[in-house]
Amino acid sequence: MAAYTPMIQQYLTVKADYQDAFLFFRLGDFYEMFFDDAIKASQELEITLTSRDGGSEDKIPMCGVPYHAAPNYIEQLISKGYKVAICEQMEDAKQTKGMVRREVVQLITPGTVMDGKGLNDKENNYIASITAFDDQTYGFAYNDISTGESRVTLLSSSFDDVLNELSVLNAKEVVVASSFDEDLQKKMQERNVLAISIEDNSSLDMNFSHLLEDLNQDKLKQTAARLFNYLYRSQKRSLDHLQPVTTYQIHQYMKIDYFSKRNLELTETIRSKGKKGSLLWLLDETMTAMGGRMLKHWIDRPLINQAEIEHRQTIVEVLMNQYFERQELREKLKEVYDLERLAGRVAFGNVNARDLVQLKRSLLQVPFLKEILQQMQNEEVKKIASDLDPCEEVTDLLEQAIVENPPLSLKEGNMIRDGYHAQLDQYRDASRNGKTWIAQLEREEREKTGIKSLKVGYNRVFGYYIEVTRANLHLLEEGQYERKQTLTNAERFITPALKEKEALILQAEEKCGVLEYDLFTEIREIVKEQIPRLQALAKTVSELDVLQCFAQVSEERRYVKPQFSMERSVAIKDGRHPVVEKVLNSQEYVPNDCQMDSDREVLLITGPNMSGKSTYMRQVALTAILAQIGCYVPASEAVLPIFDQVFTRIGAADDLISGQSTFMVEMLEAKNAITNATQNSLILFDEIGRGTSTYDGMALAQAIIEYIHERIGAKTLFSTHYHELTVLNEELSKLKNIHVSAIEHNGKVVFLHKIKEGPADKSYGIHVAQLAELPAELISRANEILTALEQSDVPAVPAKTAEIIKEKPQEQPAQLSFFDEPNEPKKHDLTSKEKRVLEKIKELDL
Ligand code: ADP
Repeated sequence: MAAYTPMIQQYLTVKADYQDAFLFFRLGDFYEMFFDDAIKASQELEITLTSRDGGSEDKIPMCGVPYHAAPNYIEQLISKGYKVAICEQMEDAKQTKGMVRREVVQLITPGTVMDGKGLNDKENNYIASITAFDDQTYGFAYNDISTGESRVTLLSSSFDDVLNELSVLNAKEVVVASSFDEDLQKKMQERNVLAISIEDNSSLDMNFSHLLEDLNQDKLKQTAARLFNYLYRSQKRSLDHLQPVTTYQIHQYMKIDYFSKRNLELTETIRSKGKKGSLLWLLDETMTAMGGRMLKHWIDRPLINQAEIEHRQTIVEVLMNQYFERQELREKLKEVYDLERLAGRVAFGNVNARDLVQLKRSLLQVPFLKEILQQMQNEEVKKIASDLDPCEEVTDLLEQAIVENPPLSLKEGNMIRDGYHAQLDQYRDASRNGKTWIAQLEREEREKTGIKSLKVGYNRVFGYYIEVTRANLHLLEEGQYERKQTLTNAERFITPALKEKEALILQAEEKCGVLEYDLFTEIREIVKEQIPRLQALAKTVSELDVLQCFAQVSEERRYVKPQFSMERSVAIKDGRHPVVEKVLNSQEYVPNDCQMDSDREVLLITGPNMSGKSTYMRQVALTAILAQIGCYVPASEAVLPIFDQVFTRIGAADDLISGQSTFMVEMLEAKNAITNATQNSLILFDEIGRGTSTYDGMALAQAIIEYIHERIGAKTLFSTHYHELTVLNEELSKLKNIHVSAIEHNGKVVFLHKIKEGPADKSYGIHVAQLAELPAELISRANEILTALEQSDVPAVPAKTAEIIKEKPQEQPAQLSFFDEPNEPKKHDLTSKEKRVLEKIKELDL
């Protein structure tokens, strides 16, 4: 250490505390990085690696970024999962002898991004903390630092629940104790967690104890405390906008595991991973960023409490019936800025005057929102109206204090209105008077000298000056003007009177600047005190926004209000798949009914490929989810149970990330459904068993159906291409066959996409092959094999599956193989010539 220069020593001392982050070390106008940080950053950011003398024998690797361009680079590193510690100069270099003191002022991490491109307007940016109490009990807390929201819960079944929460929230960073199991850390990273951070301190700090007041269990407190300790340690600044932590239970919501969410494409599509084409995309008619985030949150957590669902429905109904008022509401909402994140930035101290003007404009919409809602004759809507707090003190203050179009910078002045502050007005008068005096001077000098082109100008170096062109110099009176600067065509002069005024003006302007900045900070502090009110307002506005969005979509797309059935029955009339319908355009979509009750618990769906089996199953699940988030549903009538959970196994979405085989994923998802489903759940199984050989697959499919039918009683839609399974209805009383119909029309297969009772016509596949003009010989062979298979009665074992299936495969190989050993002809059947030929063939080295 001693060999290094003092600056490098200082660097190393700071760096020692931030081993897991890039240290951006401020040197004048640059942030520099040294040693390994420099090497890695130069690769990640594609910037030049240089080196510098640091006192040691070898030069030290170094790279840097200009400080004004830093946000971009920081953003790049964060999105790759790195952390960046910002180390600033804490003293003015000009006024310090020796080394400038430097300190880390903020640690920026994937889960604590406050602004910039890293934040998507319509998405929360979550950081979570997990405390393992034992193999089954995990404390789970999360926070969005940009909005100040925090929640905590205890998960007490398995780590899968933790993983599920991380996926639902799309948490970017997780904070755990250093002793936390490493395998579990890996599993979290597989779920797109970018960074895992260590925080061993889970004791309550006075700084934030008020945030934990509502928590009644030690385990919850410890978990939330770990998170806050980490946030305070890394952010090193006021986090006054953090709202008290609230508790939640995953059982308060419909449970949809990670795989099912992906399969159903609730918030993003499987293929493009984008929002477009998802349920969220279809629904998003929100007008504010806050509403957009809340909508996503609601889709991720459908309700199971009937009263809560019906409360949302009521408001949607009122808003739906009032078209003009709703449009007006939407217009006003459009003017409402992101209050929630703004409150966060006020607390952080990084708002400018323009942000405050936007805050004011947003708040000015609130009285209009209230008025529109109050006119609607409904108590629940009126309640929202009365919950909307226009925060008049804030509006008044901002109206009086801040000009309509302030500059971006806080240092330029021109933010504060005239008349707001007497001293400021005086300075401004002084500066304005000075300027009037100067304008006056220009007129007088022109008259006095007769030089029409004479002008008074200003620049930063020389201040105010009188400029006269070379041709007119002889007109100036000797001795009155002091020459200051010579240009090609002109000379610039000053006079004592001009300098005197200049001093007054500049002084006044400087004072204005300082005072304006102070006044602005003061105003910001006053607004800061109102943060809880702004946050409460933000929440009500977000809810209102989502509810009007439901009303808007429901009306546009002709959805109906679903009723909830106590008998756990499903009766959907003319149901549609909301997204496919939108993409296709409504006329082309074929609506379908769905009927399920205590006599119809399992629907076995057959039909050719591409006929619409999986679309139908998805539409039932999406209808249930829409109903439970409080929205109307795509149908002409709908009665639904309240489902506690939805499980899906839907093909195509092979889990490539985790590297498991398709079949393994299929079985894991099946296991998940079978072990967790209750009679109040909805299960969708699409072509289960397809990933393995025919007999295996069919055996498993049948066993799974029997198990669900006998043991679980969940409402189940099961599509299969094993036509053989359709006889199961003889044994299983609550299983019913349905199929998707298709017809031949002018020599073409036409998919009617219509669901009908009973099994599909089994020879359909061959029929399609025929229409596709496969060779006639091949088609007739296929028919032959089909008949043979049908006679062999392999499938659908009436008794309990396993034993019989075991033997059958050997007896009846279903596929002809090119590679099996042919049965050798018995030698005595051959002529001697044939025998010789056979021998010759065998000798050949093929
Ligand atoms: P399967 O699961 O039987 O192979 P899909 O459900 O994937 O078939 O449907 C295939 C295509 O048929 C879908 O992409 C969709 O465009 C169309 N389709 C499905 N159901 C309908 C319907 N009810 N009305 C109109 N088109 C539909």
